[in-house]
Amino acid sequence: FKGGAAIEALASVRTVAFDKTGTLTEGHPAVVEIVSFSDLTEDAILARAAAVEARSSHPLAQGIVEAAAARGLAVAKATDERNLSGRGLRALVDGVVVLVGSRRFFPDRLAPVDAALERFERAGHTIVLVGSPDGVDGAIALTDPIRHASESAVRALGGLGLRTVMLTGDNRATAERIGRAAGVTDVRAELLPEEKVAAVRALQAAMPTAMIGDGVNDAPALAAASVGIAMGAGTDAAIEAADVVLARDDLAQVPVAVRLARRTMVTIRTNIGTALFVKAAFLVLTLFGFTNLWLAVLADTGMALLVTANSLRLLHGAPPIPAPHLHDHASQPALAGAD
Ligand code: ADP
Ligand code: MG
Repeated sequence: FKGGAAIEALASVRTVAFDKTGTLTEGHPAVVEIVSFSDLTEDAILARAAAVEARSSHPLAQGIVEAAAARGLAVAKATDERNLSGRGLRALVDGVVVLVGSRRFFPDRLAPVDAALERFERAGHTIVLVGSPDGVDGAIALTDPIRHASESAVRALGGLGLRTVMLTGDNRATAERIGRAAGVTDVRAELLPEEKVAAVRALQAAMPTAMIGDGVNDAPALAAASVGIAMGAGTDAAIEAADVVLARDDLAQVPVAVRLARRTMVTIRTNIGTALFVKAAFLVLTLFGFTNLWLAVLADTGMALLVTANSLRLLHGAPPIPAPHLHDHASQPALAGAD
C-alpha cells in the first residue's frame, strides 16, 4: 500500500475492474495457428510479425517472437517502428511497411479474412493481423490461459459484496469466454486505452472503483481509478501509477487486501471512538471529584496500550509473507524483476 490514503480508499471500494491480458490471464500467449490470405507462406507471415513485435513489450508480441524462434525462422531487423497503443504497431521490414495488430488496424477486409477471424473468435483465441497499408496478409491466433487464481479471487470479491467488471482491448467473443470462466459480473471488450479510462470513470461515477492491471495499455486506467492495483510482474508504468502493488503477482491477494483495508478502517474508528469515550468519562469523573493518579494513568497510558493492542490484532488473520520477499526490501528486485 502506498500510504494510508490507499488503505482508506480500498476499504470503501464497491466495484473492482480487471484488465484481461496479464491480469485475469497468465499473460504468456502461445501461437496456436497461422493463416495466410496472400502469397506469403505461414512462416513468412510469422517472421514478418516477429520482426515488428521484437520492438514491442506487449505479451502478444512476446508470444509471436517466441513462436518464430521455436520454428527457427530468420527474423529481419525492423526499423522506424511506431507504436499505436492498444491497436498494434507498424514498422519497416526489408523495405516494406508492415502493420501488426487488431482488426481496428485494418478497416477494409475481405470475406475469407472475416471467415477465419470468426472461427478463431469462436475458439476463444486472441487474433493478431499481419499486413501492409494495402490490406491484411495473414492472421495469427494466440491463446492465453486464464490464471488459476482468477476464478476464486473473483468469487471472494463477490462474497465481499463487490461488483466485478473486466475491461479489455481484445475481441468480444474471446473476452466473453475469459470473463465467463473468471465469473466476472460484466465484460467490456474491444476498448482502446483511452476507452478503458472512460469506462473506469463511468464506473466510478456510480461507485468507488478499483482497477487491477499489469500496465500494458492500462496504466492510465489504473491512475484514473480511486484505487489502482498493479500486478507485481507488471510494467514499471503500472507499478508507478498504482496505489497498491501485489508484490506476489497473485490475484488471491486482492480479496485479502480489501479485507485488510476494511478491518484497518474499523480498527481505526474503534480506537478513536473508545479513546474519546474513556477520556470524556474521565473528565466527567474529575468534575465530580472522583479523580486519583491511578485513574489518570489508566485513562492515558492504559488507553494507549489498549489502542495499540487492538491495532496489533490486524497482524492475525493476515497471510504469512513468504521468506524470499522479506530479503529484497531495500532494492525491491521483486518489483523491478518485471523488466
Ligand atoms: P488487454 O486489454 O486484453 O490487456 P490490450 O489493450 O493490451 O489488451 O490490446 C488489445 C488488442 O490490441 C490486442 O488483443 C491486439 O489485437 C491488439 N494489440 C495491441 N498491442 C499489440 C501488439 N504489440 N501486437 C499485436 N497486437 C496488439
Ligand atoms: Mg493488459
